[in-house]
Amino acid sequence: MIYCVEDEKNIRELLVYTLEATGFSAKGLEDGSGLFKALEKEEPELILLDIMLPGDDGYAVLQKLKSDPRTKNIPVILVTARESEFDKVRGLDGGADDYITKPFGMMEFVARVKAVLRRCGKSGEERELTCGELRISVGRHEVFLEEQKLELTRKEFELLQYFVENKGMVMSRNQILGYVWGYDFDGETRTVDVHVRSLRQKLGDAGDMLETVRGVGYRLRE
Ligand code: CA
Repeated sequence: MIYCVEDEKNIRELLVYTLEATGFSAKGLEDGSGLFKALEKEEPELILLDIMLPGDDGYAVLQKLKSDPRTKNIPVILVTARESEFDKVRGLDGGADDYITKPFGMMEFVARVKAVLRRCGKSGEERELTCGELRISVGRHEVFLEEQKLELTRKEFELLQYFVENKGMVMSRNQILGYVWGYDFDGETRTVDVHVRSLRQKLGDAGDMLETVRGVGYRLRE
């Protein structure tokens, strides 16, 4: 569960929607008091915390979180409107794990969330993705096909995870490149083809699930 503390309804809903579409569960909260109320009932894996909030601002909320032994280990990503108004040092010194400056792209956002979860060892060993006989343990970076473990490279793993998270959808080579290799990656879309080919080989018979969509990209059949 990821909490999104953000007073602007549109942004809050967009964050929650994006996280849920990526396979996380997420809950939107309007302010610090809503957050602390929710924290009494459950412990989220991660908190996204807007700085400009009604009532206590993000810095004050962060301080409260970090001074309470029950909440101090929950990773926090600060979300801020404009870089100039945001004191990075203050945020990171205050115990935030990362910060994102608005406006940000949703892919960048998801990538940051995943990076923090990975770094904090909270990427959810319990979080599993499945597709047919394929089972991906996200936190452990392990893939099983009919309960046989597959040996994948890191990029093959990320590629497969991306396909399974978006199963049934056609993904263009550029989308895949941007997501798996990063936006400033300078490579060619052929990189994607090469990795898809090796992934298919490792999947054996199940490799047929990875369809080529002519002129567009690839799709993982459900
Ligand atoms: Ca705000």
